[in-house]
Amino acid sequence: MKMKKDKIIIIGAGLVGSLLSIFLAKKGYTVHIYERRSDMRQEEMSAGRSINLALSDRGIKALNEVGIMEEIRTIAIPMPGRLIHNLDGSTVFQPYGNEGQAIHSVSRAELNCKLMDLAEQYGVNIIFNKKCTHIDWDKSEVKFENEESTASEIIPFELLFGADGAFAATRLQHMLRHDKFDYNQYYIDCGYKELTIPSGTHGSFLLEKNALHIWPRKEYMLIALPNMDGSFTCTLFFPFEGEKSFDKLDNPENVQLFFEKEFAEAISLIPDLVEQFFKNPIASLVTVKCFPWIREDKFSLIGDAAHAVVPFYGQGMNCGFEDCLVLNNLIDEFDHDWNLILEKFQYLRKPDADAIADMAIDNFIEMRAKTADPKFLLQKKIEAKMQAKYPELWIPSYAQVTFRPDIRYSEAFKNSRKQEAIMKEIMIHPHIEKLWETDEIIEMIYSKIQEA
Ligand code: FAD
Repeated sequence: MKMKKDKIIIIGAGLVGSLLSIFLAKKGYTVHIYERRSDMRQEEMSAGRSINLALSDRGIKALNEVGIMEEIRTIAIPMPGRLIHNLDGSTVFQPYGNEGQAIHSVSRAELNCKLMDLAEQYGVNIIFNKKCTHIDWDKSEVKFENEESTASEIIPFELLFGADGAFAATRLQHMLRHDKFDYNQYYIDCGYKELTIPSGTHGSFLLEKNALHIWPRKEYMLIALPNMDGSFTCTLFFPFEGEKSFDKLDNPENVQLFFEKEFAEAISLIPDLVEQFFKNPIASLVTVKCFPWIREDKFSLIGDAAHAVVPFYGQGMNCGFEDCLVLNNLIDEFDHDWNLILEKFQYLRKPDADAIADMAIDNFIEMRAKTADPKFLLQKKIEAKMQAKYPELWIPSYAQVTFRPDIRYSEAFKNSRKQEAIMKEIMIHPHIEKLWETDEIIEMIYSKIQEA
């Protein structure tokens, strides 16, 4: 049975809403996006504030599908690995994958603008300054308030997508009028603050351009991603409270002293560090899991609205882009029958979203505490050796998540749990520090993986 709906409304013209609109418009739907903010393409980007994201293979696959990836490549900086900055000033480069594999630093604003441009080229109508405030599920109507005046309007819908981010109004409306709605929201004890390392003379990069920089310090860390203009966007992930925390960095002297001790390089690279520190806000990091995402054939959450994850795997946007790709394939599979499409969409995506949410939390621990730990580094060397010998049998979990869109997040999660359990046993093997290069160790891992 073909139940094609002509008109689709999307709430939110962020990264996921904009990409989704392109997929739907290409399938022949009339798409309207209602966005709370004004049109960012009309605004000057504030100087020195460029927020970037790591784009990897799942996101790239979706962007390739809508034909925009080659254009994005021109504004993307490949990062084939992490450059670890130890406390003593030494550095170590850790590749993310094999030769030729990389994640890419992309400006969030530029990517969003390009997606909106493309959406409009496909005939999508983006209506700005419209904030979704209420949904009447019985009448299938959505209410918007105008962000610039007191006016409000009510729009009927046949099919509605909530792509309005981690604090989605659509999710709240869905949840308030849904029996047995599961909702779990979890804040980690760390917040984050962004700082900018300016470019050097003639737009030069003051740190290695092609790397994601990490200054791991166990309970906290600083990271930096390159921007096309030679600057780097740094993010300090730091506890809200405690001996070393945002709470304690409450005056310029404390900030200066703390950075001198923990991130001395930042002092030399960011001349106005203290000023930036007090000017830029502290933001929190939330994981949201909820269910169901859908209502019959007329509503679905998508992207962060359905599954906000902490950023430590660099997957939130990539996962949202993959949502769009999966939905796009289901439209073909079920020939526009939205009852079946939405049902299958949440059936497929919910376990994957839960898996990447949990892996992202685990990776926080890995990034801030383990990347400088010699035992962890040895484990990674053994895994690399194992992978070189049995490339299809042992794919490190980071590589599965980042470079293998053919492996579902939920599969990658299961595999990584298995591998972690095996490596835990291997790492307590007597004299592992001496024996790690021997075939005996590799064959031991091989037999354990066969048994698992
Ligand atoms: P959003 O980008 O939040 O867009 C939602 C849109 O909806 C916005 O335009 C908003 O204005 C609009 N909106 C909100 N409420 C309403 C309303 N009531 N009515 C109308 N419109 C509304 N992901 C990666 O893949 N790689 C990374 O490296 C990475 N780094 C990150 C670093 C940090 C510090 C953080 C916080 C996140 C990071 N992420 C990363 C995650 C990524 O930012 C999100 O997953 C992604 O932005 C989700 O896109 P979205 O379109 O679902 O939501």
